[in-house]
Amino acid sequence: MARVAFIGLGRMGHGMAGRYLDAGFTVSVWNRSKAKAEDLIARGAHWATSPEDAAIDADAVVTMVADDEASQRVWLGKDGAAANMKAGTLAIECSTVSHAHALRMSQELTGRGLIYIDCPVTGLPDAAASGKLTLLVGADPADLEKARPFLAPLGTTIRHFGAVGTGTVFKLINNLLGAVQIASLAEGVAIAEQAGLDMNLVAEALATGAVASPQVIRHSGRMVGRDFAGATFTAALRHKDAAYAVALAETLLSDVPVSRAALAAYDMAKAHAPDGDEGQMVEIVSQPKR
Ligand code: NAP
Repeated sequence: MARVAFIGLGRMGHGMAGRYLDAGFTVSVWNRSKAKAEDLIARGAHWATSPEDAAIDADAVVTMVADDEASQRVWLGKDGAAANMKAGTLAIECSTVSHAHALRMSQELTGRGLIYIDCPVTGLPDAAASGKLTLLVGADPADLEKARPFLAPLGTTIRHFGAVGTGTVFKLINNLLGAVQIASLAEGVAIAEQAGLDMNLVAEALATGAVASPQVIRHSGRMVGRDFAGATFTAALRHKDAAYAVALAETLLSDVPVSRAALAAYDMAKAHAPDGDEGQMVEIVSQPKR
């Protein structure tokens, strides 16, 4: 049976690693903190002592960690996955990283004889655990064909945008739009509250009207009710994605004022509650005018 090394067992990675076990793969796992691996080990995963140990005899290595720094550490740090991988092994980056990082990693890992594809995902942790993620791929077409058996357990919708890096470009655009929508929703909710509107009616109208994107539907009731239990996507992660998106945009366009404003809003939300729900920024903007 094909061997997968899965690195990064946070809210998303834990469920994704479990999908490989369910599909009958031989799975090695590594996470910075071992506690998150315990139930996967009980289900048959092999605990590796380092990313290098996890990857050493894998056919594919899949990473799902927080950001560029974490990705750098697990691939190229001390005992990193790339240290001893067999030539021709697939290196599949599912983390949302910056575009510049994806290109650097591609150059570095391809130079070591590995096959790198960027494959960030959309979908929340419940979709990760049930194999219903959408996969946003940047890869040479032949490399994507080699990777398909290792992508199938994660999701059935594969969007192939082009060469390495293009999956990440789209992912950053997607999450930048999410940042803009959530930041503006927070301000809309705060305005309605201060204007004395019936907030149950406002929540219902937002979630069913012309601006009812999935983000607005997901966050409007939570913001109105100040119900932020069970954060699935944190302010720190949304800030990271907006920052990577603005950095990319600034290499391509002369100015992106709306994107920069959303990033500034997430500077504040991250300072307010980095590990809290991304919608908690309503708590910042709902201060009444003095
Ligand atoms: P999370 O629960 O915070 O997990 C982050 C993971 O990264 C953990 O395994 C963590 O290890 C590891 N990590 C962080 N810094 C590290 C470092 N310096 N060295 C090694 N490992 C490190 O985050 P998540 O929600 O699963 O998100 C993971 C990725 O998926 C992010 O890139 C995120 O943007 C993306 N994503 C998230 C969602 C979502 O709904 N949550 C949806 C789509 C995409 P520890 O467990 O030891 O802390």
